[in-house]
Amino acid sequence: MTDAGAEPTGKRCIYPGCERPAVPAHPLGGPQPSFCGLEEHNALTAHQERQRRARERAELGGTES
Ligand SMILES: [Zn+2]
Repeated sequence: MTDAGAEPTGKRCIYPGCERPAVPAHPLGGPQPSFCGLEEHNALTAHQERQRRARERAELGGTES
């Protein structure tokens, strides 16, 4: 499978379930952020969402293949 993204960077938001492209790196340098432009998508909320999903999955019996 070829992952030919339209964006030159190809990096996506790592927030669970978010499919937006990550915001581009700062023109003056620095690493590209791992999140899209949504204010509520950041390292903290992504971590909380991952935990919430894990808890939900556990409560459902973990029947997700
Ligand atoms: Zn996002």
